[in-house]
Amino acid sequence: MRTPLIAGNWKMNGSAELVEEFGRAFTGTTLPAPLDVVILPPFPYLDAARRAFDGTSLRLGAQTLNPLHSGARTGEVSGRMLKEFGVEFALAGHSERRQLYREDDAAVHDRLLAALNADITPILCVGETLEERDAGKTMEVVLRQVGYVMARLEPDQRTRVIIAYEPVWAIGTGRTATPKQAQEVMAAIREYQAGFDRELAAGLRLLYGGSMNAGNAAELLAQPDIDGGLVGGASLKADDFLAICQSA
Ligand code: PGA
Repeated sequence: MRTPLIAGNWKMNGSAELVEEFGRAFTGTTLPAPLDVVILPPFPYLDAARRAFDGTSLRLGAQTLNPLHSGARTGEVSGRMLKEFGVEFALAGHSERRQLYREDDAAVHDRLLAALNADITPILCVGETLEERDAGKTMEVVLRQVGYVMARLEPDQRTRVIIAYEPVWAIGTGRTATPKQAQEVMAAIREYQAGFDRELAAGLRLLYGGSMNAGNAAELLAQPDIDGGLVGGASLKADDFLAICQSA
């Protein structure tokens, strides 16, 4: 009942050429159905990506957005602007934003709400650091990050949120969480959501992120509570990304 979703987070990588390459690679390609496939390129490539992906199954996402519609926020981009360029999904709370740009739970909530208000599906990213895992605080940290946002949403808004569990120690390190480790946290997130509403929990789409690649995707995606992946490094090569999509 939950449609799988594979999202490619290019971060501050890619080029106009890579956009074209993805457009070509996904033209006429048959993917497992049902499946949502999303590419999140840097902002300057959104318009080119919209054109290059036209007629393919690729949909567009944004890596962040500003909570305001418009105004004196030099360097920022709003949900309304992203929507104009065909963006359907947006990340909120990626660990790089939390760590490097000091986005705390309140800032993450504001961005996620801005996405919802712009009719963009937010992907809430959560995950513990290695230090927190070693201290036995994984569940506490992850459920705090989820809970802060979810408790502040209206019931109908909660049903529109996708959650990506990305252990910080697995991001860009080549060290993937084992399927068992990932499944444990995913099940805890779903159970937490059940506290709001059982139906909501059953329909919640949960993605795993952190060094997912063509070699380990199938095993991770086979876990009962993992509905897709948020892929960084392996989303920068069309062949690798396509292979991950094929295993969904
Ligand atoms: P990675 O990144 O696949 O390169 O580990 C995942 C992410 O940060 O979303």
